[in-house]
Amino acid sequence: MKKIVIIGGGIAGLSAGIFAQKNGFQSTILEKHHTLGGECTGWDRQGYHIDGCIHWLVGTKEGTPLRKLWDTVGALDGVDIYDPESFMAVEHDDVTVHLYRDLERLKASWLEISPEDKEAIEELYRDVKKLHSFNMPAGKPMDMMNIIEKIKFMLSMKDIGPVMQKYSKMSMQDFARKFKHPALRETLASFLPEGQYSALSIIFALGTFTGGQSSIPYGGSKALAQRMLKRYLSLGGNVETSSEVVGLDIERTVVKRVECKNGKSFKADFFIAACDARTLYERLLKGQYPDPEFEKRFSNPTLYPLASNIYVGIGYEGTMDEIPRTLKFPVRSVNIKLNQKQIEHLQMTHYAYEPDFAPAGHTVITFAINQFQPELEAWEALAKDKEAYAREKARIGEAVINAMETRFPHMAGKLKLLDVASPQTYERYCNAYRGAFMGFWPTIRGKSLAHTGRIKGLKNMVLSGQWLQPPGGLPIAVITGKDTIMRLCKAEKRPFVGE
Ligand SMILES: Cc1cc2nc3c(=O)[nH]c(=O)nc-3n(C[C@H](O)[C@H](O)[C@H](O)COP(=O)(O)OP(=O)(O)OC[C@H]3O[C@@H](n4cnc5c(N)ncnc54)[C@H](O)[C@@H]3O)c2cc1C
Repeated sequence: MKKIVIIGGGIAGLSAGIFAQKNGFQSTILEKHHTLGGECTGWDRQGYHIDGCIHWLVGTKEGTPLRKLWDTVGALDGVDIYDPESFMAVEHDDVTVHLYRDLERLKASWLEISPEDKEAIEELYRDVKKLHSFNMPAGKPMDMMNIIEKIKFMLSMKDIGPVMQKYSKMSMQDFARKFKHPALRETLASFLPEGQYSALSIIFALGTFTGGQSSIPYGGSKALAQRMLKRYLSLGGNVETSSEVVGLDIERTVVKRVECKNGKSFKADFFIAACDARTLYERLLKGQYPDPEFEKRFSNPTLYPLASNIYVGIGYEGTMDEIPRTLKFPVRSVNIKLNQKQIEHLQMTHYAYEPDFAPAGHTVITFAINQFQPELEAWEALAKDKEAYAREKARIGEAVINAMETRFPHMAGKLKLLDVASPQTYERYCNAYRGAFMGFWPTIRGKSLAHTGRIKGLKNMVLSGQWLQPPGGLPIAVITGKDTIMRLCKAEKRPFVGE
């Protein structure tokens, strides 16, 4: 039986492992951390569970190709799906803009806020509705399709393609400027920072959310990863945790062995790097096997930006059922300055729908404060001074609590800071370059990437995971893990077992 070593036990590594086992390989996942799941995780603090990932999962709709894939890897086994009524609510002065799941309701509520924006609202409605017919492809990757399959795929995209094209070339700010009402404008503009970020991000999110394609599996992110791990182990896969790969033994064009920091080494016929792309090219391959597509992207962060998060966990001694699950509110009376950048909004998500995430009568809340290029560099520099880094995290945590108490005076004295993760936290735990939580963010001038993971000069090692296709995220991780094994089966001339 041919052996595969998979470096990294995130969602891509687990997906690759499951399909490796299904297809007659003997695989071992080597994971740096003591637990699997990678960025799809959660952690316990002071009696609360902080969910560290899924705000929405594309592929929860029954009968779609992606749902089938999630089912095959056991991610949604025996779990109910929670459908929140709104994707997010955004407050502006005394107006609250809801991004409702029901697109008709969304349109009606926006028209009520701003009848003078009728034209722009109806255009948005029409375009989002077109995306309802979009099913994220989860079958064969493009490079494995024959000409007939490619034509069929193109035809399936005929209504959606123009919408994607239109918004991928429109900046978020230009899109926001189509609306006259300041609350609608701010709802869109605050989605991403000023610059070249494409409006496709919000259109795609709204399309999948209002089309019923994306929702939230109960139990959260860590439980989802654990279900995949269970499926992998049940198929005979091996796992080695606390096993960070730090070296490769390469003879000519063939990787013979990987070496771990803990002194263990593993031989195999094939190696799959289901880890951060920068970790692979720089740390493991030591710059000896550069890939022009990735070089271009890493050296041009303006066209190909990365995003990370400050992720604040707060425990509230009370219930929040009456407050939208995800709410963005302006921060006025409290100054939160991060690395000299004034934060104008805070986005919170509460988990009232998950009673097991908090003690009885309490609720856990998270704040995701997106961090982009200049902030990521500042965090990298700050982390070098451990005390200053800890002070900054504590300061941010306190500032978020103050902002929360200003917005919700009845919560004063009942909020407890549980945890503050920074971009450096993701770097430390997952080797994520600059803490990136997705791949390269789509911009209006950046080119789309569809990488097969092949490493030029190496015959038996490939990259897999969220870095192969923008914008990354859980669907890309699970799809690319599967695709990697599909390509391997083709190279080995064996039929691919996909179910
Ligand atoms: C706060 C936050 C919110 C998010 N929200 C969503 C969401 O709502 N929806 C969504 O779809 N996506 C979301 N994401 C993104 C999603 O979590 C990632 O896209 C996805 O988990 C990436 O999976 P991956 O397997 O490709 O990579 P990773 O999760 O990065 O997995 C790589 C694994 O490799 C391990 N590793 C790295 N180097 C080595 C080494 N040298 N040796 C051994 N092991 C190594 C790491 O420890 C890690 O376990 C979110 C992420 C974050 C951080």
